[in-house]
Amino acid sequence: MNILLNNFSTNFNTSPFQSIKNEDYKPAILKLIEDTKLEIEAIVNNTETPTFENTIEVLEFSGQQLDRVTSIFFNLNSAETNDELQKIAQDISPILTEFGNDITLNEALFKKVKHVYDNKDRFNLNTEQSTLLDKKYKSFSRNGANLSEDKKQQLRAIDKQLASLKLKFGENILAETNAFEMLITNEVDLSGLPEGAIEAAKQLAESKNKDGWLITLDYPSYIPFMTYADNRALRKKLAIAFGAKGFKNDKLDNQQHVLDIARLRFERANLLGYNTHAHFVLEERMAQTPEKVNSFLQDLLVKAKPAALREFAQLEQFAKELDNIDQLEKWDSAYYSEKLKQKLFNLDDEQLKPYFKLENVIDGAFQVANKLFGLQFKKIDTIDKYHEDVMTYEVLDENNQLVSIFYADFFPRAGKRNGAWMTSYKPQFIKDGINQRPHISNVCNFTKPTKSKPSLLTFNEVTTLFHEFGHGLHGMLANTTYPSLSGTSVFWDFVELPSQVLENWCYEREALELFAKHYETGEIIPMDLVQKIKESATFQEGMQTLRQLSFGLLDMSWHGVNPSDITNVKQHENKTFENTNLYPDVKENCMSTAFAHIFQGGYSSGYYSYKWAEVLDADAFDYFKEKGIFNKDVATKFKDNVLSKGGTDNPMVLYKRFRGQEPKPEALLKRAGLIK
Ligand SMILES: [Zn+2]
Repeated sequence: MNILLNNFSTNFNTSPFQSIKNEDYKPAILKLIEDTKLEIEAIVNNTETPTFENTIEVLEFSGQQLDRVTSIFFNLNSAETNDELQKIAQDISPILTEFGNDITLNEALFKKVKHVYDNKDRFNLNTEQSTLLDKKYKSFSRNGANLSEDKKQQLRAIDKQLASLKLKFGENILAETNAFEMLITNEVDLSGLPEGAIEAAKQLAESKNKDGWLITLDYPSYIPFMTYADNRALRKKLAIAFGAKGFKNDKLDNQQHVLDIARLRFERANLLGYNTHAHFVLEERMAQTPEKVNSFLQDLLVKAKPAALREFAQLEQFAKELDNIDQLEKWDSAYYSEKLKQKLFNLDDEQLKPYFKLENVIDGAFQVANKLFGLQFKKIDTIDKYHEDVMTYEVLDENNQLVSIFYADFFPRAGKRNGAWMTSYKPQFIKDGINQRPHISNVCNFTKPTKSKPSLLTFNEVTTLFHEFGHGLHGMLANTTYPSLSGTSVFWDFVELPSQVLENWCYEREALELFAKHYETGEIIPMDLVQKIKESATFQEGMQTLRQLSFGLLDMSWHGVNPSDITNVKQHENKTFENTNLYPDVKENCMSTAFAHIFQGGYSSGYYSYKWAEVLDADAFDYFKEKGIFNKDVATKFKDNVLSKGGTDNPMVLYKRFRGQEPKPEALLKRAGLIK
C-alpha cells in the first residue's frame, strides 16, 4: 500500500517520514492528480446554480492530499535531497505545472466561478469569503479567461515569447559569468585578501590546471576581491567585467532582450485590460498602484539623500587621506567602505559568537514568543523526523491548547540547499468545525557543534534565526477558514513584515538579557558591544538606501510606463539614475542587461518591496518600542490583526487595524540614523 494515498494516521497527523519510500511519490502524485480532477469535474457537472459553497468552497478544498504530498516532497527536495529525489522532481514538476494550467484554462469551471463572482452580492459573504472569491476569480481572469479566442491565442504567443526571452537573458548572463577569468600570477597582487579568499583562488586555479590564483565573477570570488584587494587597477578590471555582462554588442548581448521583454510585458498587460505591466503586478500587492510605489520611492529618496551625500563625502575624505584618491570610483566603494567600517567599529564575529550559543538563541526566540504571544514550546519525540538533526516541538497556547507542530532543522549537510527558509508540512484551516493546526518548519545552515565546542552563531546567524522564526510564527498563529488564505499566503510585499519585525528584538537589551549569555562564563553580553552592533548595522545606510532606491526606480521605469519610447537601454538608464548616482558613470557598464531579478526572475515591478518591507517592520516595531517591546496589548493587536489573519483581507486594512494608521517611513529613517 502507498502510504501517501491516505490521510496520515500518525501522532498529530504529522508526516510519516520514516515510512515513505522514494518510489511512493510519483505514483501517489499521479493518482492524487486524477482524484483532484474528479473533484473538479464534480463542480463542473453540478446541475445546481453555482453558489459560493458549491463552487468556490469546493474548489478551495479540492486536492488537499495532493497538496500535502507535494509539500512533503518539495520540502524534502530542499532540506534532505538526493539524486533519486531530484530525478523524481524533474519528472513530476512539468506534470504538476500542466495540471495547474489545465485548471486555470478550464472554461467550464471558469464559467461557474464567474457566475458566482458576477452575483457576489447575493451570497452575503464575509470579508474572508469575498477575498477568497476574488482570488479564485483572478486566478482565471489574470490568465486571460475573459478574452476572446483570438486574444487568448495572442496571450499564449506572448507568454511563449517571454518565456524564451527570459531563458535567453539568463543563459547570456551565465555564459558571461563563466567566460571571464582573471588569473593572478604575482603574489603581490593578492595583497589585502583574507587567507580564505587566497586559498579559494588557488584551489580554483588548480582545478583548471593553472598556476597561480584565479578570480572570477562568481560572488564568492568577486565580493572578497572587491572588498579587500589593495590593487586598484585589478579591482577596476574586475568591476568593469562584472558590470559589462550582456552589454558588449556581441552574441551574448542582452540589450534587445531587455527592450523586447519590457515591450511584451506591456502588451500583455494591455491585452488583459491593464495600463502597464506594473498596474497588472501591483493589483495583487499591498502597494496596489505604480503611483503609490513611485511616490514611496521618491519620498524616501528625498529623505535619505542628504545622509547618503554626507556618507559619500566621509568616504571620499577617508580614501583621500589613506591613499590620496582624488576621484572615488565604483570599484573603490566596497574596499574603502570596509576599511572605514573597521576603523570606526573594529567589530568582528569572533568577539560576539561566545554570547550566541545556538541552544541559548533558540531558547531566546521561544521566550520572546512566550512573552509576546503566550506560546510554549515543548520538545516531543513521538513524531517522525526526516533526519536525526531535526528537532521537533509541540507548540501550545496559554490554555495548553495545541497551536502548531514546529520542526527546527538547523545544521548544514550534503542533501540540504544553502540559505535559510520557513515552510509548512500541513496548512492551517477550519473545516467541519475543526480548526486544523499547522505543521511549520524552519530550515537553516548554522555551524555545527564539535566535540570541544558548541554551535556558536555569528550575529548575522542570530538575526537569521529570528527572521525565519518570525515567518514561522506567521504560520503557527494562523487562524483562518481557508487554507489558501492562511499564514504566509499573503501579498508579496507584506510577507516579510512578521519576519523582519522579529529581528528587531535581537538589538534590544531587554531581549538580549534573556539569552545572549557567554557559553562558558554565563556573562550577559556587554551593552557597549550591543551599541556597537547597532551602529555598525546602520553603517552607510544612506548610501545603501540610495542604491536600493535606484534599483526600484529602474524597475518601475521599465514596467510602469509604455516602454516603446525607450530605444537606447544605456541612455534610458543614465536618465533614470540621475538623482541617485554618487559615483561617475562607467560607460562600458549597464545594469539592466544583467538585472536578472526583474528581467529573468519574478521581481518585475517588485524591487521596491525590499524597502517597503523595511518601512513596514520599522514602523511596526516603533509601536512596540513606544509601549514596551514586550507590551502584551501591542503584541495581541499584532497577533489578532496581522499574524493570525493571513491573506484574508487587504494587507493595508490589516496593518491599519494593528497600527491605527498607514505605515510611515520616519521610523526606518530614524532607526537607520538618517534623520534625528
Ligand atoms: Zn524572509
